Amino acid sequence: MNLEFTEDQKAVQRLARDFAEGEVRPRAPKWDASGEFPHDLIPKMAELGFMGLTIPEKYNGAGLDLVSAALVIEEVAKACGSVALTLASHNGLCSRHIFDFGSEDQRKKYLPDLASGKKLGAWALTEPGSGSDASGMRTRAVADKDGFTINGSKAFITQGSVGHTYVILASTSPEKKQKGITAFVMEKATPGLKSGKPEDKLGCRASDTAQLSLENVRVKKDQIVGEMDRGFIDTLKILDKGRIVIGAMALGLGEAALAASVRYAKEREQFGKPISEFQAIQWKIANMATELEAARLLVYRAAFKQAKGEKTTLESAQAKLFASEAAIRACNDAIQIHGGYGYIKEYPVERYWRDAKLCEIGEGTSEVQRMVIAKHILGA
Ligand SMILES: Cc1cc2nc3c(=O)[nH]c(=O)nc-3n(C[C@H](O)[C@H](O)[C@H](O)COP(=O)(O)OP(=O)(O)OC[C@H]3O[C@@H](n4cnc5c(N)ncnc54)[C@H](O)[C@@H]3O)c2cc1C
Repeated sequence: MNLEFTEDQKAVQRLARDFAEGEVRPRAPKWDASGEFPHDLIPKMAELGFMGLTIPEKYNGAGLDLVSAALVIEEVAKACGSVALTLASHNGLCSRHIFDFGSEDQRKKYLPDLASGKKLGAWALTEPGSGSDASGMRTRAVADKDGFTINGSKAFITQGSVGHTYVILASTSPEKKQKGITAFVMEKATPGLKSGKPEDKLGCRASDTAQLSLENVRVKKDQIVGEMDRGFIDTLKILDKGRIVIGAMALGLGEAALAASVRYAKEREQFGKPISEFQAIQWKIANMATELEAARLLVYRAAFKQAKGEKTTLESAQAKLFASEAAIRACNDAIQIHGGYGYIKEYPVERYWRDAKLCEIGEGTSEVQRMVIAKHILGA
């Protein structure tokens, strides 16, 4: 399989790298400390096409392939996990669900504002009582002749409080479990739809995460995204793409930890020489570099396959699983290489660790990825 980036993909990578270095990296520690959502960055990212990465130009998007989208997320993650997560969920979950499964009317209505950054998108599957097991979903959409009434709540929703356009999954046929879930699109101003206050998190602190509550929310039939009762089946296809992007985010964070470690190991002297001359440090650097290279191959192998329109359930799960765990190992070693300085906020490596931890949890935990992979291998 050819994993060479095209000239266009390399140009997008350079654009994202320059943007991340100039606009994101210098401010990331402050956003991390305050947990403040970087609103002023959204128009700048929109100008570069980052708010509509894979959405076609006719809906104001950048019309990029998934490989380019992954490159953007990787570069942004090197500077700030929070901004990478914002882009990953806005693009890869909300907008993508509307584009892949929405009607032409829904695409025209919602995508231009999302892709131009005028509106932020959120996508809500998880609930307080159901995460890995979506069949335990309690949010119910009850049909009547004019549409549906939805009651329930959603947990850990990225852009949950700052979002404007929401794709929300609700059970329409509870007896059919996962095969009875439907996706609905709605705007923030919908009566009965309320956001909780932003969660105070371990990492990705400047990405907005909030609960949603739905109390007698009225929606019309034309707000169904895709087909009735097929919302979870469509979700699995969305996650096949989303997991590649979370893998790219993990890769970026791991690479940032490696770069910081190489720099520090060459500067820091103990016993009269740079610590990079000690074999214990060299082996850590060698392990980090090798595992991240393996992660890169898995992430971009999956991205190239997706870009060709192939199914990547297995490859996406493997990419996300390996990249997120490799990133955590790399960040852990980076903290160790920095010694006491790795444990304080003056150096970025502890932030990389906190941000990378999300990649082992969001869009399916590492345990869930292993379940997906084992099912494919065992043919169960
Ligand atoms: C910062 C952040 C942002 C998020 N953004 C969104 C979002 O935008 N939209 C959204 O819908 N969700 C979002 N999530 C939710 C995320 O997808 C869930 O947290 C995740 O899927 C895990 O669900 P849970 O938290 O309910 O954990 P649980 O499912 O309760 O799992 C708890 C533990 O049990 C393990 N476990 C569960 N089942 C099994 C099993 N069968 N075998 C082995 N182990 C198992 C899990 O792996 C985990 O270790 C976000 C979460 C975070 C932290």
